Amino acid sequence: MRKAFVVENHLSYRVLRWVLGVALVTGVVVSAIQVTLDAGGVSRSLDEQAQQTIALVRDAATQSVFSIDDELAQQVVDGLFAQEAIRMARITHPDGEPLGKGTRPLQMSAFRPITDPIFAPERHYREALSRHGSPGTVYGHLDIHYDTAHAARTWLERASVTFASGIAIAIVLGLALFVVFYLLLTRPLMRIVQSVTLVDPAQPEDRLIVLPGGHRSDELGLWVNATNNLLIAIGETQKRHREAEDRVNRLARYDQLTGLPSRETFMELLQADLDEAQQQRHVLALVVCGIDDFKSINEQCGFRTGDLLLQTVADRLTQRLGASRFTLARLGSDQFGIVEKGLHDGYQAAKTADQILASISETMVFEGQAISMTATLGIAMFPADAREPDRLLQSAEQTMALAKQHGHNHFQFYVASIDKEIRERKQLEKDLSQALAGHQFHLVYQPQINLETRRIIGAEALIRWEHPEKGLVPPDHFIPIAEVNGSIVEIGQWVLDQACWQAARWAEESMPLRIAVNLSAVQLRQPSIVDDVLNTLKRHNIPAGRLELEVTETSFMTNLEDAVAKLHRLHKAGISIAVDDFGTGYSSLTYLKRMPVQHLKIDKQFIRDLLVNEEDTRIANTIIDLGKSLNLSVVAEGVETAEQEYYLTQRGCKLAQGYFFSKPLLPRDFETFVAGFHQKLMENNV
Ligand code: C2E
Ligand code: CA
Ligand code: CA
Repeated sequence: MRKAFVVENHLSYRVLRWVLGVALVTGVVVSAIQVTLDAGGVSRSLDEQAQQTIALVRDAATQSVFSIDDELAQQVVDGLFAQEAIRMARITHPDGEPLGKGTRPLQMSAFRPITDPIFAPERHYREALSRHGSPGTVYGHLDIHYDTAHAARTWLERASVTFASGIAIAIVLGLALFVVFYLLLTRPLMRIVQSVTLVDPAQPEDRLIVLPGGHRSDELGLWVNATNNLLIAIGETQKRHREAEDRVNRLARYDQLTGLPSRETFMELLQADLDEAQQQRHVLALVVCGIDDFKSINEQCGFRTGDLLLQTVADRLTQRLGASRFTLARLGSDQFGIVEKGLHDGYQAAKTADQILASISETMVFEGQAISMTATLGIAMFPADAREPDRLLQSAEQTMALAKQHGHNHFQFYVASIDKEIRERKQLEKDLSQALAGHQFHLVYQPQINLETRRIIGAEALIRWEHPEKGLVPPDHFIPIAEVNGSIVEIGQWVLDQACWQAARWAEESMPLRIAVNLSAVQLRQPSIVDDVLNTLKRHNIPAGRLELEVTETSFMTNLEDAVAKLHRLHKAGISIAVDDFGTGYSSLTYLKRMPVQHLKIDKQFIRDLLVNEEDTRIANTIIDLGKSLNLSVVAEGVETAEQEYYLTQRGCKLAQGYFFSKPLLPRDFETFVAGFHQKLMENNV
């Protein structure tokens, strides 16, 4: 804490005290000398006055004693008393007999105790009386006593004035000196002190001391200049120190060759990334990338080229991956560490791994020499494989070493199950990209039955993938993959085209059925989806009423306005819209009212446990009632038993679909089924 600056500590006050002290003492001493000298003068003038008086009356007094004339003597004495200061006057014979005499008391005055010791209360003068002709003969004596009070008072008055003026001069001088000192020194010094407190110790040269005006060339100016020069010098020294420190820091924290963070820095960054992933509940992948056979590249091409290759790898990784989601580092001579943040699953990490492998394996040309390199990657996932940075890095490094034993230019996940799953999924994705061109898809159709009339009113088209090796792959397996990589758009268009073609064929064969086609959320987001659908209808020359599109609740929740607009256009054209899997999503009344929807499909999960699970039964009932009140027809999906069918019919559900009636069928089988179903119906009616 800064001590408060007490006024008594001001230099100018101290100067004032001293000056006042010295001036007062000097004033007192000088006045005392003056007064003493004056006292001497007063003393002398008293004596002189007495001598003059004696000289004045001397002859008359002598005459009175000579002629023994006591009348004259008394006259002389009385004359003397005209003077105020005479206290006693006496003319005596030589034998001491007084001839004439007068006295008056000493004047009373308050200052006597001061002046009496100096001048004595009274002064005695004795004059021997003799005649001019015979100076040796003494006829008598004249005694005069002078009261000193009168002269002493005048002296004292003068002395007081002398002391007072001496002290006044001392005070005025002291004050004048104080003001001058304050203006010339204290005030500018205080300003300088204030300016000094504003100097930033970290950057002293940024804010130098300000010199108060008018002191440029005096001692203050010199001092401020010298101090400012010192501050600038200190600032420069500090800057040099900081730069040196930064350099040392960079050397330790960053790899000299590639400029990437060093292993130590990487561990810190990894910890921070892990904290973030933990907080946001994200998955994080740590990839350790080892260049394959880097030793032999070094031996063949030399260390200089080896260094250049590593720099190129670092540059390529930095450019390809970017800083926002990735943390890059050089872990060892030919090893790089890559952290990928904000993931949902290992599948995304596998994609990144592919990108890394691709960018490293691009041919590099050095001094006319083409060099190809590959790398092998080990991947560990947070939080599945490890939660601590050390363990995670260890896992990734081990995996990388292990992967190198099985070959080059590939990646491997730490956990075998994930590794296998991701590998399979990647393979499936690759196969899927060729499925359309390879004519591996076909459609099956599942009849939809009107429970009241017991007639087949339509069919849902469902895709099937006949994989050349794996056989039939269920749509639940590959549709999500196609949705992620966007190929669902092309596949969905194919389904639509195929279903419309089929509807047209069946119409020609006098089997005019409504075909329901599943429309993925990704498809609905396509700006051209409405035109694509309408063009397809036109191409196959089928009325729009023949087509129903099944959309899930989630697919229009992402961009409600856009979805509403598109569905309205489709509906206006005559296409009916069904909400698929109703009851599993938001099931919000608000959007249902805004949507041009004609059908609600109760998800098969609620039908499966109908009459067994109370909750599911209640949900199915609610959806049926909701359909009634909103004037929407409800389709029960996944009806497998006669009990379910009976219950739904009783409850007022109009349409149904499920294994109880038929599994999804190939077109030929579907035709046979329809023929058989209606045949049975006719027989029953008969
Ligand atoms: P979804 O639209 O809910 O289709 C109904 C699914 O229930 C079909 O499975 C169907 O075979 C099955 N199913 C029908 N009746 C029964 C039954 O009585 N019991 C049981 N347990 N299941 C029954 P599938 O064909 O495997 O299709 C699964 C999902 O794949 C579909 O569910 C749909 O979301 C999607 N999908 C199928 N084909 C396409 C398509 O062409 N395009 C798009 N975008 N998605 C499709
Ligand atoms: Ca469906
Ligand atoms: Ca469904």
